[in-house]
Amino acid sequence: MNLRRISKRFLQSTCSLALVSFLFSCAFLPSAAAQSCGSQGVAAQVLGSGGPELQDKRASSSYLVWKDGQPLVLVDAGGGSALRFGESGAQMSQLGVLLFTHYHVDHSADFPALIKSSWFEDRKRPLPIYGPPGNDFMPSTTEFVYDFFGDKHGAYRYLSELLTPGEEGSYKIQPHNVVAGSTPVAAFRGRDLAVYAVRVFHGQVPALAWRVEVGRKFIVFSGDTNGDNPGLTQLALNADLFIAHNAVPEGAVGIERRLHMPPSVIGQIAGDAHVKNLVLSHRMLRTLGREDQTQSEIKKRYSGPVEFANDLDCFAVE
Ligand SMILES: [Zn+2]
Repeated sequence: MNLRRISKRFLQSTCSLALVSFLFSCAFLPSAAAQSCGSQGVAAQVLGSGGPELQDKRASSSYLVWKDGQPLVLVDAGGGSALRFGESGAQMSQLGVLLFTHYHVDHSADFPALIKSSWFEDRKRPLPIYGPPGNDFMPSTTEFVYDFFGDKHGAYRYLSELLTPGEEGSYKIQPHNVVAGSTPVAAFRGRDLAVYAVRVFHGQVPALAWRVEVGRKFIVFSGDTNGDNPGLTQLALNADLFIAHNAVPEGAVGIERRLHMPPSVIGQIAGDAHVKNLVLSHRMLRTLGREDQTQSEIKKRYSGPVEFANDLDCFAVE
């Protein structure tokens, strides 16, 4: 099983080499490149490859799973990702389901922007939203959605119509809390699509890792986690693609380590789970520039291909 990376940067550099003969067509390349993701078969597109820091010049966490030109699943919606969503060529009306790993700002801040954009589209079916339950520290998925769009106290209650049950077949958003443990639980099934979750440890923040199955292709998203829960290895077992978060360098200690997994732990999970391809995302100022060290720690425990993600990169699962 091979992974084919379609990188906007690669396509642009190819373009500049052939500048004279292809000047006119190159002017349109970014949109052409974006629309090529998932046009045939299954692909994961990285909408946001960064963390919370704006100086990383990346959108925060967000991913799209495509099949045959249709964006089926959106995982997280961190700051900047709504713009990348538009650049990808996707439309909210095409989505089958929206998944959240947790509600830190860098995973959820663009959610209302996506919903507002969907207002202008012609969606005629509900949009299910799945994410973790809450605790004293963080809202549940239903609370999070109602905090924006609830008709009584929602910050954007002028759009509360989207949460009110409407006519059969009309567009409304349907939030669900997913209570998961160490064994994968099924959260959603659609045509040719199934999603499973396990609980992962991310400090005191309720958090989920997600496995998206499209036909016989499996893509697993670690979300943010310190890697302590063995359920993540089980979830990632034999995945065609494992997207893990490279938020801390090897040797991290204290709160950074309690929240995130260093490269050695990512490599251990990828190796134990026998994933076919590993992509590192959620790149932060403390890990950017340390790719060689990160890669060598991972390679001690995992022998498959490793890629570092950039915004709008498209990973076709073949
Ligand atoms: Zn987080």
